[in-house]
Amino acid sequence: MNPMRRMLVAGTAALTMVLPAGWAMAVDRLDVVATTGMIGDAARQVGGDLVNVRTLMGPGVDPHAYRQTRSDIVAMANADLVLWHGLYLEAQMEDFMRELEEGGKVVAVAESLPHNLLIGHEDYDDKFDPHVWMNPNLWSRVVLSIRDALIEVRPGSEEAFRVNADTHLAELRQLARYTTQVLSSVPAESRVLISAHDAFNYFGNAYGFEVLGIQGISTESEAGLQRISEIVDLLVDRGIGAVFVESSVSDRNVRALIEGAGAAGHEVVIGGTLFSDAMGEDGTYEGTYLGMIDHNATVISRALGGEAPERGMSDLLN
Ligand SMILES: [Zn+2]
Repeated sequence: MNPMRRMLVAGTAALTMVLPAGWAMAVDRLDVVATTGMIGDAARQVGGDLVNVRTLMGPGVDPHAYRQTRSDIVAMANADLVLWHGLYLEAQMEDFMRELEEGGKVVAVAESLPHNLLIGHEDYDDKFDPHVWMNPNLWSRVVLSIRDALIEVRPGSEEAFRVNADTHLAELRQLARYTTQVLSSVPAESRVLISAHDAFNYFGNAYGFEVLGIQGISTESEAGLQRISEIVDLLVDRGIGAVFVESSVSDRNVRALIEGAGAAGHEVVIGGTLFSDAMGEDGTYEGTYLGMIDHNATVISRALGGEAPERGMSDLLN
């Protein structure tokens, strides 16, 4: 419970008589629960001061492996709106969320995307790659779906949600322009992104990069030795000098690549840590969607020979 609400509950009758209008408004905030940080950030951007958002998966948490806790279940049961990603991202929560959908206001925000914009899942014919946030233009559509979910729960605030969403969409357009600019400055032969798992297929499509994850689309599948040696061969053959670690996935396999390439006489460095399935620390720029994607594009561009300002799009990167 937030401090303001605790105070109000403590003396409801007496307080409501004397509360200024702004305080009464605060009581009416919608309680929104979001699974991933990216969804929570979008809900905050669109909901503004009309929502309290609780995000279940913090920085560094892997959504493919995350399982709901007891306190998550309580929060979801009490929420006015539950936003989850869907497309089988939250694989361990899938059954629980499908059941929850039957009981109330629960929206799988990425599942409204038209299928022709989605990339097929390598392991399942009937599933899609869930990592749509890697393309700001696709993510804009998810933001619209979050806006519409908020409007449906609180139609009286439709105007505010629309205005907030438009403001955020303008920021996302600016982000799309910046990322396109810095990534297109990477020499064509160096546009190869190798990282711990297959989170960057939408990134690859959006910016014209070849993308290879050591593990598959889900981190649940183990990388085989053969996969590692195939990628080592590719690093050596193509003279690729940088690979990337991810904040939410162990760097063990990436280090095996670097050692393998080194044994073959080819030096490879870690180009940086990318935010693949989770954002940066709370309260930092990298802990927002804009900062996460700005960081990734800036780090990738600079590590692979492109031109990007050291502190990114808005001079805010750490
Ligand atoms: Zn992933």
